Amino acid sequence: MDSGAAAIIKESIRIIEDYPKKGISFKDITPLLKDGNGFRACIDGLEKGIAGKRIDYVAGIEARGFIIGSALAYAMGIGFVPIRKKGKLPYRTVRREYPLEYGNDTIEMHVDAFEKGSSVLIADDLLATGGTARAASELIAEAGGKIAGFAFIVELTGLNGREKLAGHEIVSLVQYQY
Ligand code: AMP
Repeated sequence: MDSGAAAIIKESIRIIEDYPKKGISFKDITPLLKDGNGFRACIDGLEKGIAGKRIDYVAGIEARGFIIGSALAYAMGIGFVPIRKKGKLPYRTVRREYPLEYGNDTIEMHVDAFEKGSSVLIADDLLATGGTARAASELIAEAGGKIAGFAFIVELTGLNGREKLAGHEIVSLVQYQY
C-alpha cells in the first residue's frame, strides 16, 4: 500500500494506552470504520495486497474480523466464514483454545463451514502475538481447508506474530512496534 494511504489509515486509528489492562497500547479502529474513505482504503488495500491468489472464502475472527472479513469477501465476490467465540455457533464445531496478548480465549467454527480443499483467507483487524490467527488457521486445517494467507489492517511488529504464522503470506496495511 502506498505511504499516503497508510498515513490516512494511521491518522484514523485511535490509540488508547493501558486498555483493557496496564501495558497494552490498544489500537481502536472505530474512528477508521466511521470514515467511509478510510474504511474503503482498508478493504481496497487488503484486496490489492492479496491479488493474484486463489481464494475461495474469507474467514473472519469475531468480532472485529467480521467487519473487515465480510467487507473483503463482499468486495471479492466470495463467501464469508465466521470464526466465533465459544458457544455461539449452533451446529457441530471444531474448537481451539489459545493464549492472547491479554488472557486466554476459545474460538470455534462449523465443521462444514466450507468444502474440503477450499483455499481460505483469514482476516482480522490486528495481528499482535499471532495466537488468534494461528488458532484460526488450525481450525481451518482441521476442517480440511488450505490457508490462502492472512490479512490484517494493523500489525504490531514488536510482538513477532509473523513467526507463529510462518510459511504463509501475510498482508498488513499499517504497522506499529507495540
Ligand atoms: P493476538 O492473538 O495476540 O495476535 O491478538 C489479536 C487479537 O486481539 C485481535 O483480534 C485484536 O483485535 C486483539 N488485540 C490484541 N492486541 C490488541 C491491541 N493492542 N489493540 C487492539 N486489539 C488488539
